[in-house]
Amino acid sequence: MIGIIGAMDQEIKAYLGLAQNIKEIVWHNIVFYRATLCNKEVCIVKSGVGKVLSATICQKMIDEFLPSTIIFTGVAGALNSTYNIGDIIISTDLMQHDMDATLLGCKHGQVPYSDYHIFKANSNLVDISKTIKVEGHSIHFGRILTGDTFVSSQDSKRKFFIDELKGDAVEMEGAAIAQVCTLNKIPYVVVRTISDKADGEACENFEAFLPQVADNSSKVVSQLLQKI
Ligand code: SAH
Repeated sequence: MIGIIGAMDQEIKAYLGLAQNIKEIVWHNIVFYRATLCNKEVCIVKSGVGKVLSATICQKMIDEFLPSTIIFTGVAGALNSTYNIGDIIISTDLMQHDMDATLLGCKHGQVPYSDYHIFKANSNLVDISKTIKVEGHSIHFGRILTGDTFVSSQDSKRKFFIDELKGDAVEMEGAAIAQVCTLNKIPYVVVRTISDKADGEACENFEAFLPQVADNSSKVVSQLLQKI
């Protein structure tokens, strides 16, 4: 069984549209959709936005449905200047940009007193993703930064993310999923479509482009499902 998690309704809509034999399992106000998608058994869920909700729902999915792989999918803001709105980024690795215990001697992004820092996505899933082509869409591979902030900034913070943390895109769930999957030894990858450029126009662009581009990631994930 393959777990597919998105943060918002728009991010899981395309998967539910393609899925067959859907069975709903409700936990609190969260709906897990067991289904068949591209001939694979899947469980699709909307986690809600941010690290706490996504980590909680990811662990619940692992405990209840025993997925062999987890794919997190949705939209992200671009940091890499070569990325355009509508392009797709597949995580090679991820880190929490808002985990900062550098005053204690930790590296930026490192969870104190642990080895949790930069989370490498499963290399097999990344390699398979490299064979995927979607007509009309550029697919990039890069570092995703995660934090509990919608990033809309032209200032030093964005520069720090790019120059120091080497981020290619920023969002609010990926590294949380990565940490939970690492703890549980579950292979994972994050597939995101660029909805904005995390700059001064990010709020307007996010609102305007989310409905247009939210389905793009599903074009990659559908092919990925067929290959794993
Ligand atoms: N309007 C939504 C909130 C969206 S927050 C609501 O009311 O619920 C933005 C979502 O898109 C997050 O899930 C995050 O992962 C992703 N995202 C897209 N662009 C982003 C950016 N520039 N900074 C941070 N997260 C971004």
